[in-house]
Amino acid sequence: MKKKQIVVLGAGESGTGAAILARQLGHAVFVSDKSPVKPEFKAQLNEAGIAWEEGQHTMDKVLKADEVIKSPGIPETTELMRSIRAKGIPVIGEIELGYRHAGPCTIVAITGTNGKTTTTNLVYHLLKTAGLNVRMAGNVGKSFAEVVAEDLAKGNLSKDRVFVLEVSSFQLDDIATFKPDISILLNITPDHLDRYGYEMANYIRSKFRIAMNQRRGHLFITNANDPHIAGFLSGNPDHVRCRMEKVRRSDLKNGYVRIGRLMAFDLASTTLKGPHNGFNAACAIRAALRLGVRQGDILEGLATFNPPPHRLEKVAEANGVLWINDSKATNVDSTFYALQAMERPTVWVLGGQDKGNDYQPLVPLARKAVKAIVCLGIDNKKIVEAFKGLKKTIVETRSATEAVEAAARLADEGDAVLLSPCCASFDLFKNYEDRGDQFKAAVHELIQKNNKS
Ligand code: ADP
Repeated sequence: MKKKQIVVLGAGESGTGAAILARQLGHAVFVSDKSPVKPEFKAQLNEAGIAWEEGQHTMDKVLKADEVIKSPGIPETTELMRSIRAKGIPVIGEIELGYRHAGPCTIVAITGTNGKTTTTNLVYHLLKTAGLNVRMAGNVGKSFAEVVAEDLAKGNLSKDRVFVLEVSSFQLDDIATFKPDISILLNITPDHLDRYGYEMANYIRSKFRIAMNQRRGHLFITNANDPHIAGFLSGNPDHVRCRMEKVRRSDLKNGYVRIGRLMAFDLASTTLKGPHNGFNAACAIRAALRLGVRQGDILEGLATFNPPPHRLEKVAEANGVLWINDSKATNVDSTFYALQAMERPTVWVLGGQDKGNDYQPLVPLARKAVKAIVCLGIDNKKIVEAFKGLKKTIVETRSATEAVEAAARLADEGDAVLLSPCCASFDLFKNYEDRGDQFKAAVHELIQKNNKS
C-alpha cells in the first residue's frame, strides 16, 4: 500500500482512534485539534508516536494531506473545511476508515435520534449471550477504528467477528463505501438542526445514508410508525435496495414483542420498560435472529440485559419509593417516552438548560402520571409556566441533593421518583453523566441517613 500523508482533524475518541489505525497501516499521520486535547488522548497519541497539535490548525500542514479524516464534530461550514474542500483533498470519517480496513466480518450499524446506545448495547448483549465473537464500538465506548486497529495488531482477522456499531448522523455524513450487513434506523425527530441548515429533510437524508450502500443479502430494520421515515421511503422508493423489515407499534402487545406469527418474547420480567424499549428490543431481536441466534438464547439475553446507566436506570427502592435516573433524557421526546413508561404515581424531577423546548406534548402525560414536580435548574420559569395549569405541587431546587430531599418529602409509599430532565445539564452540572451520578449519590446518601435514624 502506498504511504500517504494523513491529517486527522479533532483529537477526541474518534480522531484518536483514526490516527492510531492510520499510523498502524504505515501512513504518516498528523493530528490537529483547535481545542485542548484531553490528557488520555495525548497519552495514546504519544505512545503511538503520532505528531499532534492543539489550540490551532496549522493550515500549511493540514493542506499537505493526501487524505483528511474528519471528526464528526467539525461542520463543513468552517473555514478549515472550506479550504480543504477548495484544494480538492479527499475527506472521510473515522467509520469509513475503520470499515475499509476491518477485513472480513459482519457489521450491525444502529442509528436514530433516540435509543441508539440502548439498542446497540442490547444487540451486543444478545449476540454475546449467544456466544458470537462480537465487539461493540462507534459512538459508544471505543471508536470503530481503534477496535479495528487492535484486531490488526493482534493479527485477528477471523471472519466470524461481528461489530455492533452506534453511528450518529454526523458520522454518516462522512461515510462513502461503508456497508453494514444489518442496519437499524430507530426513529427520526428534530435534533441537531443547526448542523443541517435548519432543514429537517437534510437531517432525514443524513440518517438514511446508513442504508445507501446496502444491497441484496443485507437487511435494513426500521420503524413503520415514524412519519419522517415513512415520508422519506415513499418519496425515495429506490433508496433501500435490500430486504427491509419494519417494526410496527402493533408488534408490541401486553408486554410481549411479536416477531412474525410464530415468535413472542416476554419483556415483563426484563429491565426493558416502556413501549420505546419494547420497540428497541424488537429491532435488536430481529438483528439477532438474522445472525442465526436461537430463540432460547435471545430470551436468556433479554432476561440478563442491564440498560446502560442514566437511561431509566433503577437507582434504589426504599420505604416503598422507587428512584429512577433518566438523566440522558435531554430532549422532550425522550422524556415523553420515560413518562409513558411509568407504572406508579410519579414525582418528576426535571429542568436544566432549555434548548427551546416546547413542553406541551408532555402536559397530558404529566396530568396522568405525575403527582408533583421538582424543578432542578437555575431558570425554571418556562417549566412552571407550562405545568402550573395541572394544579400539582411544583418546587424549585438548585442541586441534586436539594432535589432528592424535596422529592423524598413529596413521595409516598408505592410512588416513584423519576429524574427525566428533558433539558441539557450544563447550567448546574458538567454533563448528563455528572447530573445522573450526583442524583444517584444523593439518593443513596438519603437512604443511608434514613436507615441510621
Ligand atoms: P441515544 O444514544 O440515541 O441518545 P439512548 O439509548 O442513550 O439514545 O437513550 C436516550 C434517551 O432516549 C433515554 O432517555 C431513553 O429513555 C430515550 N429512548 C430510548 N429509546 C428510545 C426510543 N426508541 N424512542 C424514543 N426515546 C427513546
